[in-house]
Amino acid sequence: MSRKKTLKKSRQHRAKLAQEYLQKILEEPQKNSEDFLKTASKQLWNISTRHRIGLPETFKNRFCRKCKNLLYPGLNSRVRIRSKVRYLTCNECGMTKRTNFRS
Ligand SMILES: [Zn+2]
Repeated sequence: MSRKKTLKKSRQHRAKLAQEYLQKILEEPQKNSEDFLKTASKQLWNISTRHRIGLPETFKNRFCRKCKNLLYPGLNSRVRIRSKVRYLTCNECGMTKRTNFRS
C-alpha cells in the first residue's frame, strides 16, 4: 500500500468522525442555538462534499442548496403541500425545494 493511499484513508476516516459528530448536533436542534446549527450544517456540507463521503442519508434531502443550511420544518423552513408536491422553503434565503411524491 502506498503512503499516499494511507494518508487519504485516514483523512476520510477523520472526515467520517467529524460527520458523525456534526450529525449528532443536528439531530437535536432543540438543544443547540440557531447559530450553532447553522455552522454545523455548513461544516457537514463541506466535509461531505470535499471528502466525497456523501451526506448522511437522513439529511440528504434536507439541505438548502443555496445557503447550505439543514432545514427543519417549522423551525427554519416552511412546508407546503400542493397537488402531491412538497414545497420546502428556507427561511434564511427564501430558496424553495420541491419534492415530488409522484414517482
Ligand atoms: Zn437557504
